[in-house]
Amino acid sequence: MKKDQKVRIMLSAAAAAVIMLAAGCQRYEPIEVNAAVNAGTEVIAGAAPGSGDASETVKTGAINTVSGTAKAAVSNTAAGGVDYSGGPGMTAASQEGTATVADPAESGSENGAAGSQETAAGASAEGSAPAEGSAPTDGNAPAAENGAAEPAFAETDETVYATGSDINVRASWNTSSQVIGVLKMGEAVKRIGRGDEWSKVLYKDQQCYVASRYLSAKEPETQAASAAAEGEVKLNSSWKYAEFSKINSGAAMLYKASGSNRKGITVCVNAGHGTSGGSSVKTLCHPDGTAKVTGGSTAAGATTATAVSSGMTFADGTAEPKVTLALAKKLKSKLLAAGYDVLMIRESDDVQLDNIARTVIANNASDCHIALHWDSTASDKGAFYMSVPNTSSYRNMEPVKSHWQQHHALGESLIGGLKGAGVKIFSGGAMEMDLTQTSYSTIPSVDIELGDKVSDHSDGRLDTLAEGLLAGINAFFGQ
Ligand SMILES: [Zn+2]
Repeated sequence: MKKDQKVRIMLSAAAAAVIMLAAGCQRYEPIEVNAAVNAGTEVIAGAAPGSGDASETVKTGAINTVSGTAKAAVSNTAAGGVDYSGGPGMTAASQEGTATVADPAESGSENGAAGSQETAAGASAEGSAPAEGSAPTDGNAPAAENGAAEPAFAETDETVYATGSDINVRASWNTSSQVIGVLKMGEAVKRIGRGDEWSKVLYKDQQCYVASRYLSAKEPETQAASAAAEGEVKLNSSWKYAEFSKINSGAAMLYKASGSNRKGITVCVNAGHGTSGGSSVKTLCHPDGTAKVTGGSTAAGATTATAVSSGMTFADGTAEPKVTLALAKKLKSKLLAAGYDVLMIRESDDVQLDNIARTVIANNASDCHIALHWDSTASDKGAFYMSVPNTSSYRNMEPVKSHWQQHHALGESLIGGLKGAGVKIFSGGAMEMDLTQTSYSTIPSVDIELGDKVSDHSDGRLDTLAEGLLAGINAFFGQ
């Protein structure tokens, strides 16, 4: 965006505020904010002077996505977007089979100073921030609706981005209010008031509300991957958390879609296991050195875990890594055909990348990370994803804190896709697990278990699973 455009938008925002104040209502004359509201390009981010901290904005989690997918605002979709990603019925309290998870593994070492403080966007205050009013009289309609007083909103004036797909834009600060529109992943809106649960935004020139957890002041990182060339992607030691990896001489491979349907979205497909020697190396479970909060293949309380475990063996004698690889290849083909770029972590029986290296590479070269696994139980219990344990210390640890809701949103999308393909789903589709992958992920990231030791893993079954996963990925990115 050119500078003059930016200035014009800011002026418009200021004008809008004035009009809003004068009118004392929620709607005012159309202005050209829309120009800025499309793709996640320019940021006029940064909290307006005196409008409160920048840190708060980080809370909802920044997302690395695809500004390319951000499209013009969809109008009045009364259809269902999301306000909360906790997801109905997705609580991991699924206790059937305290199933031992097949594999998490991780590493790390030194440095206890994890805490990524991805501070909210670059407070670039070009031009004095327009003084917008948290219009004193705006409470009218919404308040009447639920009888409650408007919650406190810290005045702000910043561009924020949707961190999930199909995020509802509502007439009021509650989930029963009218859905005015839906934000696509990465779509930008102007936030004028920030609250713990809800944010007040300007959407199509109208004052509306969006759940704060789905907004981030961090500009979507225009796909690192799209800019990258097709071919090998190795761990770059300057990448965040790279120093925690201990096995990283191998390389992932980036493939680009070639069709006219190319989306500019990169999906990391991680075929679980397949690192020879990986089970004899330990890495830090958490970047801050704290202990695991749940038990899996590594017990709760441990601070280190296997760098890459060898995986389980199916009842028919097939090794899990063979099957995860076969599914990864099928998924890769379907994704490329559908227009996604694909980052393949492993394409042979062995890749010298531990779970931290895989995660960090995915963080930096893709828009979401999907690790494929089968669980080590023998009950054919169905598919599920590993959700982030509801343990406050863990959910408050970076980078988990800023991203766990994105992980859940991705997990739920994948489970929805699998279910649609006729795949049996375990319990609510999620099981809480403290994984190395999750502990180092800064993009939507999920370990998905497609079944267990006695589940069908025939070629036909893998096709079905790949179709289901593709449908879930499409849903997640609003495609
Ligand atoms: Zn596994």
